Amino acid sequence: VDKSGMAGSSPAEKHFRFVVVGGGISGVTCAEQLAFQFPKEEVALLTAAPLVKTVTNLRQVSKTLEDFDVEEQPSTILQEKYPNLKVIHSAVKDLDAKQHVLQTEDGHNVHYHKLCVCTGARPKVVIKENPHVLGIRDTDSAQEFQKQLSKAKRMLVIGNGGIALELVYEVEGCEVIWAIKDKAIGNTFFDAGAAQFLIPSLEVEKPEKTLPCKRARYTTDKATKPEAGAAELGSALGPDWHQDISLRGAEEVSHNVHVEYECEIEAVHSQQDFIQSPLYTQNSDLGVWPVYAQLTNGKVYGCDFIVSATGVIPNSEPFLQGNNFELAEDRGLRVDDQMRTSEPDVYAAGDVCSAGWEPSPLWQQMRLWTQARQMGFYAARCIAAHELEEAIELDFCFELFSHITKFFNYKVVLLGKFNAQGLGVDHELLVRCSKGMEYVKVVLSRGRMMGAVLIGETDLEETFENLILNQMDLSSYGEELLNPDIDIEDYFD
Ligand code: FAD
Repeated sequence: VDKSGMAGSSPAEKHFRFVVVGGGISGVTCAEQLAFQFPKEEVALLTAAPLVKTVTNLRQVSKTLEDFDVEEQPSTILQEKYPNLKVIHSAVKDLDAKQHVLQTEDGHNVHYHKLCVCTGARPKVVIKENPHVLGIRDTDSAQEFQKQLSKAKRMLVIGNGGIALELVYEVEGCEVIWAIKDKAIGNTFFDAGAAQFLIPSLEVEKPEKTLPCKRARYTTDKATKPEAGAAELGSALGPDWHQDISLRGAEEVSHNVHVEYECEIEAVHSQQDFIQSPLYTQNSDLGVWPVYAQLTNGKVYGCDFIVSATGVIPNSEPFLQGNNFELAEDRGLRVDDQMRTSEPDVYAAGDVCSAGWEPSPLWQQMRLWTQARQMGFYAARCIAAHELEEAIELDFCFELFSHITKFFNYKVVLLGKFNAQGLGVDHELLVRCSKGMEYVKVVLSRGRMMGAVLIGETDLEETFENLILNQMDLSSYGEELLNPDIDIEDYFD
């Protein structure tokens, strides 16, 4: 058996009924489910990284909210669990969709009857190939980030999504300049009110961590470290990615975050170029730094390095050439309500795909861990249904968007159209906030609850989930809905 795990010498021709590409959450979930449903068939999981992600301790918090741990494990774990699941360590470089064959980097041809593409996405790094600009995606890039941070006095973070939010809160001992293009922090998840609630957390010392964190730790065993070149294809990190790495800079400060609102990066200058430019003469008080960032609001900051956390681009490229995939605007492989791409027998799930069906009025795609699992699972069920010529309906999990996470040490639950996405002016907001404790926001449209943001230990998630799902007319309750003296759970029981 050669190092790819395939018997025989190359060019090997391998035939499988089912092939899944990608060892992240979506790919592993899909492959496991197929192996479970078709115990007599061989399922192949092709992946570029040495470790695979597996879901453990799945906990159903409510009807649609789920929480789970993720473990990075050697692929042998999967093969022990499902003898009919073969993991092949090799990146896919090409697909001939007509012939139903994939070509791997190490020269193998893998034939399939049905294929599911789960290759995830990579960071959209605004400035490419600059050693002072980093993106964070997988264990390796997180380690590179940690290395740079340990020597740094100042870093600049661009982007306003989940990764940036976590980063600016977690980093200590290093001044952080946070450049965002919006008027408020975290606008992928929050409105300005919630941002206002969270901002004070950046100004006080962080609480000591009292509870051990039960989530996954991301370590890469040296023995299984990817070979050079393969590193950029690792799986995306997920919740608590920073738990096991020290996020400390070179200074003795706790938080020191300065937010620059409504701006983007205009240009990045190396030290040498900057010192020789007229900009340096105009800003001679900036000091000498390894790199300088010029922002669109006219300000210039010198810093040790820049983190680009401005979203992701789906890894669809290796599959495109010579095929007719319909791509979404974000370059994701567009899938229908049965996770089928526009090429026959090719499905896609997780970060690499873009939901192309008419979504429920309460759901939207967001490239998050939970959706990667749900899509991987559902894609496998669709593949199975099509193989067996059975009908299948869109899974219930796509009825209501729900996400549970932690930001700035607060529990955060997001439900439905939590930011009134797509509702235009046709909505009203009810807000209840108690400083440092909780922030509750409800989005109502024509008397119906369409979404909610719950920050802190509000204990409202189940009741609100029900109210959103049953679309009950709440007009007569008005602001009473958020009256803290009313036990809302009893009210609607
Ligand atoms: P991935 O996990 O990216 O897996 C893709 C797999 O495909 C990998 O195994 C890779 O090796 C393989 N691959 C890629 N190209 C090829 C190829 N050509 N050939 C073969 N194999 C290939 N989500 C949350 O819900 N909560 C969070 O708190 C959260 N935090 C995050 C923090 C960070 C720093 C990052 C980067 C992401 C975070 N996310 C979070 C997002 C979440 O991690 C992703 O949505 C999720 O991991 C996507 O899973 P996936 O299986 O689609 O892709």
